Amino acid sequence: MAGIQEVLLNLLFILLPIFIYQNFWVDKLGTAMPRRNGVAIGSLSIASVLLCMTFPVSIIPGYVLDLRLVPMLIGILYGGWRVGIFLIIALFGYRVLIGSLGIGFLLMTISFPVVIALAILSAKRYLLIGRRPKIIFTILLLLVLLIPTNLIIVHSMEVTPWQNPHLPFLAFFTLINLFAAWLAVYLIENIREKAHMRVEVQQSEKLYVLGELAAAIAHEMRNPMTVVRGFLQLLQEQSVSPEKQKMFLELSIEELDRSEAIISDYLAYAKPQIDKHEGIEVSERVRSVAGVVTSYATLRSVTVESQIEDGLELTGDPEKFSQVLMNLFKNGIEAMPQGGTLHIHAYKRARQIHIDVSDTGVGMTPAELARLGNPYYSTKETGTGLGLMVTYQIVHSMSGHIQVKSEKGKGTQFALSFPLPDKHHEKNAPPK
Ligand code: ADP
Ligand code: MG
Repeated sequence: MAGIQEVLLNLLFILLPIFIYQNFWVDKLGTAMPRRNGVAIGSLSIASVLLCMTFPVSIIPGYVLDLRLVPMLIGILYGGWRVGIFLIIALFGYRVLIGSLGIGFLLMTISFPVVIALAILSAKRYLLIGRRPKIIFTILLLLVLLIPTNLIIVHSMEVTPWQNPHLPFLAFFTLINLFAAWLAVYLIENIREKAHMRVEVQQSEKLYVLGELAAAIAHEMRNPMTVVRGFLQLLQEQSVSPEKQKMFLELSIEELDRSEAIISDYLAYAKPQIDKHEGIEVSERVRSVAGVVTSYATLRSVTVESQIEDGLELTGDPEKFSQVLMNLFKNGIEAMPQGGTLHIHAYKRARQIHIDVSDTGVGMTPAELARLGNPYYSTKETGTGLGLMVTYQIVHSMSGHIQVKSEKGKGTQFALSFPLPDKHHEKNAPPK
């Protein structure tokens, strides 16, 4: 069938930007349901519209048909009114540029503004409705434009409408428009749903870890309470000398301070996640999370040894960064059921921040190593198998790398490296 090549090409121009958007914006950000990125949506939909217009189907004399309406509506509905304005400028600008301002142009000038206005007006609400209403609404918007245009095209020809030889093609083309819109919305909604799920998994993993830690922390709190209670009891007695009294009080305060520190580290980690992009004080974070897991480690006769350089900084979401550390520290501790040492080493080298977490635990075989990061892969009775998956997601979203070395029976090392933020590059650049 003539024109099928162009139709397929147009379809490609609609689908390709969706995959580009998924891979470079949604998945790259990795950790969160990204706020809509107007610039990206705008440029991609403009590119898509212009490409569709460059390779139209010219089957019906006097008219050029293409699928431009689909990327245009999708761009506006998902990107909002700003994208809409840029799209209108690009659309009409390009149309004037490629010339032939005949009846086709007139038709577009009359019909497009109506649909564009409808799309802009509903863009805000559009994001809130479900997948099926979205598809129906998009298709209705398309029909608002396609039906009158088709009628005009048919009536503008000399033959009676029912004998018009172009009728099958017009019908086919209308269906392709609807199909393209259905497919595009369907794919975009799938992408959004997956991004949502990713956030949810991260949250629930964090809650699970919090629950596990809570037991260890409650246990750890009992010691200082017993100690303080003992001292208070001693103080009750008349015979205690003033020096001893002073010593008991000081020791009690020390114990209380320690418990206070444990609780505030825990609460800092328990803070709800709100997506943030800001400076991360790496050194403090590593110290604080190491503090939170210490109770957990003590309970399993694991010693935590840390060597943390001061003043390390990155940009990203501090809460998520803590979640990464927590997962790695906790895994390390859990890998040492007979006790051992968890080494934490944070330092800056070669314009990168390195965080090495190593344990002297059970280790992994190469086959086990290869499965790391797969969802639900866990060798623990009560494991979720989601910790490392979340960890990889977050680290990659911060442009970081994870390298794992492990030897069965000897231990495991997770080596994280993050490129320093750009401003550090400038600061540390050698003078010219
Ligand atoms: P979970 O801790 O809930 O099992 P993770 O995704 O954190 O889930 O870890 C997945 C699996 O990877 C663990 O069950 C364990 O078998 C293995 N693993 C992770 N870290 C280590 C480590 N430091 N030493 C040995 N095995 C590890
Ligand atoms: Mg884990």
